[in-house]
Amino acid sequence: MAKELAVVCGGGGFIGGHLAKRLLAEGKYRVRVIDIKPLGEWYQRFDDADNRVRDLRLREACEEAVEGAAVVYNLAADMGGMGFIEKNRALCMLSVLINTHLLIAARDAGVKKYFYASSACVYAADKQTTTDNPGLREQDAYPAMPEDGYGWEKLFCERMCRHFYEDFGLDVRIARFHNIYGPNGTYEGGREKAPAAVSRKVIEAKRSGRHQIEIWGDGHQTRSFTYIDDCVDGIERLMKSEFREPINLGSSEMVTINELVSIVEQIAGITLERRYDLSAPKGVRGRNSDNTLIRRVLGWEPSTSLRKGMAETYAWIGEAMNGGRPSPKGASKPAGKSAKAEVKSGRRSLVGKA
Ligand code: NAD
Repeated sequence: MAKELAVVCGGGGFIGGHLAKRLLAEGKYRVRVIDIKPLGEWYQRFDDADNRVRDLRLREACEEAVEGAAVVYNLAADMGGMGFIEKNRALCMLSVLINTHLLIAARDAGVKKYFYASSACVYAADKQTTTDNPGLREQDAYPAMPEDGYGWEKLFCERMCRHFYEDFGLDVRIARFHNIYGPNGTYEGGREKAPAAVSRKVIEAKRSGRHQIEIWGDGHQTRSFTYIDDCVDGIERLMKSEFREPINLGSSEMVTINELVSIVEQIAGITLERRYDLSAPKGVRGRNSDNTLIRRVLGWEPSTSLRKGMAETYAWIGEAMNGGRPSPKGASKPAGKSAKAEVKSGRRSLVGKA
């Protein structure tokens, strides 16, 4: 019997690229990958997938994308770290077009399961005002006062998914990602998030001999960071479950930004003079993931330590900065390869070129 088709929307990006790789390596599905970026800018690209460049804000593109699909993963969004989302609120909100048209197309095409990538940015601001955040529980998204722009769009899309299940029977899964990081993601250009930005800055300081680092905010703000392999594991486990409500997919290892910098300094074997930019975008004061629900529903939670995940991330960014990797500005070597071949050869994701 022919394999069913899984479609990864936004698969030229960070999380979608890792998910496509995992799905191909497992071999259960045929895989179609869609992204708006030219193929040469995809972080990972695999010859054994059906790779298509399309703008998923357009309804026709969504209809074409999901044609014949059993499973659809929506990881496509115009997004970035705090520096990007605080200055591009309208752009972030326009991602609503992607999820709207994908949901309609998935419903009409009889898709069996639909995954939506939500975010910890849906949580209400008044639950994140201190650094000693006890962990955000799923119900803390309401009464709603999410991150302006990006967070409102995510919260609205969560609810749209819920109503597509209730009114049309589309079987949805919704994960609230908490700061996902790892190799093969954005590390420069303005859309990068803290783990990648800190890694890049430490590498630059080490290479230039100018032993200083600029930190956004006072460094005491807290976050938890989730390694990409845990994120992909969580997506797969959630898809196999029967749970249709939004659920945290995040590490509960909360650190200050100063502690994150110290971890990267240790990995790099260097100590830098810290300069704090108090006028830079900082986001909320404290955020952590409460994992009570995911432990109960999936009997699992992310477990990769920040130290281990950052060592992988730091090494990959170091390699990427040496050239030959896709960057946000575009890549020079768009050579694809088979995900299975890469897994068989025992190569780590760290060396997975696009
Ligand atoms: P990413 O920017 O690396 O990937 C998103 C991809 O979507 C990009 O490759 C982009 O080109 C593509 N895209 C944007 N607009 C598109 C369009 N109109 N048509 C087709 N493709 C389009 O980001 P990511 O970190 O991989 O995030 C994936 C999803 O997870 C997003 O929905 C994001 O909001 C969500 N999320 C990510 C994090 C995180 O820490 N990385 C945290 C919370 C939520």
